[in-house]
Amino acid sequence: MKTIGLIGGMSWESTLHYYRIINEEVKRKLGGFHSAKCVLVSVDFEEIERLQREGRWEEMGIILNDAAINLEQAGAEFFILCTNTMHKVATQIQNHVNIPFLHIAEATAKQIKQQHISAVGLLGTKYTMEQEFYKSKLESNGLHILIPNDDERVTIHRIIFDELVHGIVNEGSRNHYKSIMNKLTERGAEGIILGCTEIGLLVNQEDAIVPLFDTTLIHAQEAVRFSFGEV
Ligand code: GLU
Repeated sequence: MKTIGLIGGMSWESTLHYYRIINEEVKRKLGGFHSAKCVLVSVDFEEIERLQREGRWEEMGIILNDAAINLEQAGAEFFILCTNTMHKVATQIQNHVNIPFLHIAEATAKQIKQQHISAVGLLGTKYTMEQEFYKSKLESNGLHILIPNDDERVTIHRIIFDELVHGIVNEGSRNHYKSIMNKLTERGAEGIILGCTEIGLLVNQEDAIVPLFDTTLIHAQEAVRFSFGEV
């Protein structure tokens, strides 16, 4: 079992889920008292959130690259970044780091293709839905991506930042997400990517009529498979 490095805190609400899923998977595989070997560097999300709004991606890249270097020095044998949005700086964070990096969108695309789905809806922060860094990764894996319309994207983003990253789960917000997912399905989505690591706090498979791809779950499970040399 290789030691997993995690860059978390974006937000800590979803990092908790990564930690839980990774340990549950290791326990499921090995039984007994087994738990995952991992190292976590958790950043202050206040700083990251402000830099995101100000579009200062290069500076966030430096912060997360420092985190990655610390993970390697602390014994991580590969690492993951526990947020979709910050994969915008995925290349920068690997500077001067010699351990492998598992990209969240690569792991997600692999899972989707295994289900022979090609058209998928994407929910996430406005950065993830509107900018190219994430969609292009999925498209280069042969997927066709549908994103919600302007008003829907505003609603999705607002609910992430006003509620989910603060651990607030609201029934009205769940209904907004359900209706947006239904509209994506009417437009041809055969599945929906929960492309923000907190969305799984709000919706689950019974809220949708097509398969949901929860990036937190997929990424954490892929990390365990990598740790065991299965991928
Ligand atoms: N955890 C989120 C994501 O997966 C959003 C928080 C952030 O903007 O970093 O994109």
